[in-house]
Parts: sequence; C-alpha cells; structure tokens
Amino acid sequence: MATLSDEERAIVAVVAEFVDREVRPVARDLEHANEYPEELIAKMKQLGIFGLAIPEPYGDVAVSTPCYVRVTEELARGWMSLAGAMGGHTVVAKLIMTFGTDAQKQQWLPRMATGEVRATMALTEPGGGSDLQALTTTAARDGDEYVVNGTKTWITNARRSGLIALLAKTDPRARPAHRGISILLVEHGDGLTVSRDLPKLGYKGVESCELSFADYRTPVSALLGKVEGQGFAQMMKGLEIGRIQVASRALGVGRAAFEDALRYAQERESFGKPIWRHQSIGNYLADMAASLTAARQLVLHAAERYDSGDRSDLEAGMAKLFASETAMTIALNAVRVHGGYGYSTEFDVERYFRDAPLMIVGEGTNEIQRNVIAAQLVARGGLPD
Ligand SMILES: Cc1cc2nc3c(=O)[nH]c(=O)nc-3n(C[C@H](O)[C@H](O)[C@H](O)COP(=O)(O)OP(=O)(O)OC[C@H]3O[C@@H](n4cnc5c(N)ncnc54)[C@H](O)[C@@H]3O)c2cc1C
Repeated sequence: MATLSDEERAIVAVVAEFVDREVRPVARDLEHANEYPEELIAKMKQLGIFGLAIPEPYGDVAVSTPCYVRVTEELARGWMSLAGAMGGHTVVAKLIMTFGTDAQKQQWLPRMATGEVRATMALTEPGGGSDLQALTTTAARDGDEYVVNGTKTWITNARRSGLIALLAKTDPRARPAHRGISILLVEHGDGLTVSRDLPKLGYKGVESCELSFADYRTPVSALLGKVEGQGFAQMMKGLEIGRIQVASRALGVGRAAFEDALRYAQERESFGKPIWRHQSIGNYLADMAASLTAARQLVLHAAERYDSGDRSDLEAGMAKLFASETAMTIALNAVRVHGGYGYSTEFDVERYFRDAPLMIVGEGTNEIQRNVIAAQLVARGGLPD
C-alpha cells in the first residue's frame, strides 16, 4: 500500500471494518436467498463509497485509483455482489467526467457521488457482447429526440439504476462500423422495459436484466459529450477503469478464499496433525499467497498507470486476466482444502467458486483481454517498463 496516503489508508480500514462487522456475517444468507442487499447498499452510500471516483466539485472525497482498488477488494472480500454494484457506476461516472458536457456533469455527477442515482452501462446484446461493433440497437434522430429500438442483455443493476449509459448505433451504415456508435445517457421511461431477469450461477442479490427498447424517446441532450460516432472509442476508454475494477473484485474473492483456506487448514486435523502440515495442502496455501500477491501488484500497477492519464488498456487487460484466473484457481483449491465441507453451502468457499468465473467472462472475456494485450504489445513495441 506504499502509494496510499494516510487518509486513503484510513478509508480502506473503515471499509474493511464495515465488511468484517456488517457484511461477512450476513452475506451467506442473503446470497442463498438471492436477496437484494438493501441495507448494505444504504450503508455503502453513507460511507461515501459510490462517490470515491468522483472528485470535487461534484463529489466530496475522491481517492486515487490504487485506493479505489483496495476499497473494491475489501468489499469483494465480504461479498463480490457489493463490489459489483459499484462497477458500472464507476465506469459511467468516469465517462461523464471525461467526455460529458458541463450540463451532463451537473445533471448527473453530484447525485451519483451520493449514490442517490446509481448508474449502469448497457453494451451487451443477446446476439453478442465481444463484438460490440456488430451491435444492432439503433438510436434514430427525430427532431430534438432520439428514438431507440433494440435489446440489451446482462445489464447489472438495471432495475435500480437511475441512469443507463447506452451504446447504440446512431448511424448503422457507417463504415468502419464503430464510427456509427454513440453513447446515450438514458433513464427509465415509456418504451423501456426490463423484459426479464437472467438466472445466474453466482453474483446473486444484484439483478442482471434484459432491457427492451421499443420506440423509446430521449432528448438529444442525452448524447454523451454532444457528439455522435465517438461512443465506441469513449467506451473503450471507460472499460479501462471497468477492467481494473473487475480485477479488484477478483482480488477480493481470491483473498477471501485464501483466508478461509488458511484458517481451516490450521483447525482441521488428519493423521494426527493440522492438515496444513501435509505438504500438498501447504503447497496450495503457498501458491495461493504467491499468486495473490502477484495479482495485487499487477492491479495496483494498472491503477497507477490509469491515474497517469496514459492509455492503460494493456495494463488493465493484464490485471484483469491474471487476477481473475488467479481467483478461479484459488477458489477451486480452497474447495480442495476444505474437503467435503468445501462443497457444503454451510461454508463460504462454494460461493467464491461460483462468483469467481464472472470476473473471467465479464467486462470483456479473458480471450478478448488477450487480444487487446497482444495488439498493444505490438503497437507499443513490446512490454513497457
Ligand atoms: C453476471 C454478468 C453481468 C454482466 N453485466 C453486464 C453489464 O452490466 N453491462 C453489459 O453491457 N454487459 C454485461 N455483461 C455481459 C458481458 O460483458 C458479456 O457476457 C461478455 O462481454 C461476453 O459476451 P457474450 O456473452 O455475448 O459472449 P460472446 O461474445 O458470444 O463470446 C463467446 C465466446 O467466444 C469468445 N470470443 C468471441 N470473440 C472472440 C475473439 N475475437 N477472439 C477470441 N475469442 C472470442 C469469447 O471470449 C467467449 O469465450 C455481464 C455478464 C454477466 C455474466
């Protein structure tokens, strides 16, 4: 945590205490009931967590991205769904701060900072999420309005989000196709329905929705930055922080699984000794600790690069790829360390095992991260210092 100020360390400590005292004792029951964590989200608002990426004059306390990473890790250590509820919110806040007009910043950022308005992003469609240039949702200009038609899917927090950053084609005939894509800042209203909730392996409590737009109308002032055809490039920039956020969630899940395994390996005995003394189990713990530490360094490295203002898709991609694969491996090995109890819903490791794959698939799959990383390695002439 060398890069955090004293004030930032104090913020991380407050969140860690909240997680230990209020999240971990209830997470298992809420998760199994697939219950929206209303009270925990309200407490996160009180703690100012939804505003941590929104600086003055719109928010009160903005922190560095390394600090944001540590806060996200702590939340995910308690329950990944809580950290997930902040992911799209942060991407949309950064999009508005970076590309929004003054009016858009005034309209959205102060209420996003308090959590009064929560935001999500709608990119993925039933026909595909990786190939965003092939999206089919359209926003056709009609006087002072856009008329939106199409379907989005897997949209996190869609029902409870007061703001949706929608990726749509304002010019479906543009070539290359990305030049016809724009971002609209839309709200719930006539013509927009939450058409279904998607059933999931994990990431419970937080809704994942399909959204149907049927002649939905929004004023042209909803166009991010008042500029058409920039939405794809804007979103690629937004996904840098999104991928760092997902990598931080993976750190939290990996850490929770490691800490549970470390504790259990000292409590459980077989053949007359604690199981950690069996070399196979000790090796799992050693590998978990080494890979988790490496993953954290990669994520903090990406966070520092992001704060430098330089392009950070290579760093964010490497962090997300490595941290998510690490979390999955640690979650599986934590199940092994717990033996039969690792398969029991009376322990938390089965939840980590169900939550970890989301970070492999979400925010651009790890196959897509590898494509981004390879392209950037060639573009930058190798691995930068
Ligand atoms: C719980 C959850 C929450 C989500 N939240 C959101 C959200 O809030 N907003 C949002 O917009 N989306 C969200 N998503 C969607 C997510 O971003 C997509 O699922 C993801 O981008 C992959 O898209 P897809 O599912 O259509 O897979 P596809 O694009 O169909 O890919 C299928 C497989 O093919 C591989 N593949 C595809 N193209 C390539 C290529 N060029 N090179 C190598 N491999 C390739 C993929 O890696 C994958 O393995 C969420 C998903 C989940 C599961």
